[in-house]
Amino acid sequence: MIVLQLQQQSGSADWEVSLPSSAILEFRRSLLAWYSQNGRDLPWRHHADPYAIWVSEIMLQQTQVKTVIPYYQRWLAQFPTIETLAAADLQQVLKAWQGLGYYARARNLHKASQEIIQRHNGIFPTHLSDVLALSGIGRTTAGGILSAAFNQPVAILDGNVKRVLARLVALPMPPTKATKPLWQLSESLLDPEQPRDFNQALMDLGATICTPHNPACNRCPWMSHCRAYNLNIQSTLPMRETSSPIPHKNIGVAVIWNEQKEILIDRRPQNGLLGGLWEFPGGKLEPGETVEECIKREIQEELGIEIEVGKHLITIDHTYTHFRVTLNVHHCRHLTGIPQPIESDEIRWVTLDEIDQFPFPKANIQIIDALRQA
Ligand code: SF4
Repeated sequence: MIVLQLQQQSGSADWEVSLPSSAILEFRRSLLAWYSQNGRDLPWRHHADPYAIWVSEIMLQQTQVKTVIPYYQRWLAQFPTIETLAAADLQQVLKAWQGLGYYARARNLHKASQEIIQRHNGIFPTHLSDVLALSGIGRTTAGGILSAAFNQPVAILDGNVKRVLARLVALPMPPTKATKPLWQLSESLLDPEQPRDFNQALMDLGATICTPHNPACNRCPWMSHCRAYNLNIQSTLPMRETSSPIPHKNIGVAVIWNEQKEILIDRRPQNGLLGGLWEFPGGKLEPGETVEECIKREIQEELGIEIEVGKHLITIDHTYTHFRVTLNVHHCRHLTGIPQPIESDEIRWVTLDEIDQFPFPKANIQIIDALRQA
């Protein structure tokens, strides 16, 4: 028997759910039986190489399976081992990641591959504490790798699993307020005899049956024991955080041309959002400023040069996790001054043919496409 308990943050009420051992055994049996018939055939499930599994786990953190598969295959062709990744230049690594977003994941994969060379002679560690000490690997990623690669009984709790478990026990609060009991539940349910298959099955259940909208409860192996289903509240769970509207930034962006028909690009500082990626220079509009005034000012501040702001090229709306941006992009002409990397790590003049060699964030790729069509 396991008992999950939580005192709500308001202090107003305790929440408690108990699951008898017989129910836990039944959850394991029914889920594994379902998985043997319905498990997804995914490329990283074809072998037990911890490096390949680690790459897949990191790519899948904020990205859907169908998007990840071609990236995963190209990545392993380009960096087939921990050694090849560790020896690669960060710019190559970011270029291979281009378009997947959340670039800290790529920087951490690269850094952690070097940590594995230094600390573990290039062999992926098998102890949980060693795996957790690597850059970019948290508890659920460590559980995903250790269970899939080494069949170790280490639990997982990613977004899909949180949703399934929150529904299973009809969690009366957002999962972020119940992290401890949800981990306890995931650990208690995990089948110690078949941890690899159990964790994969749990992920597949969340991805294919217990989906965010319209869960297919009538095809779910846990239907008869699921509290949310029995209360007919599955579509209202998990409970959401009350969220405030995300801020919006209006940005002026310059495509600066010189006499040789080259364009000026700069590399963002290594740390921070989109760190190490290249971009077209620009910045945020100040109150009362026009886009043209903003671009002129930003380019003077960031690069120390004078430009003429020309015609509008494209306007792009892009949403990041915590804010939205509108990029107002203009063609510009370099007038005077030698560009300096005042707020970036590096600057280059490149032709439109050369530009593909550099890793750019998604929104900037749209600018490049617009330049090619212009
Ligand atoms: S019965 Fe429905 S809500 Fe419950 S775990 Fe299965 S799919 Fe999710």
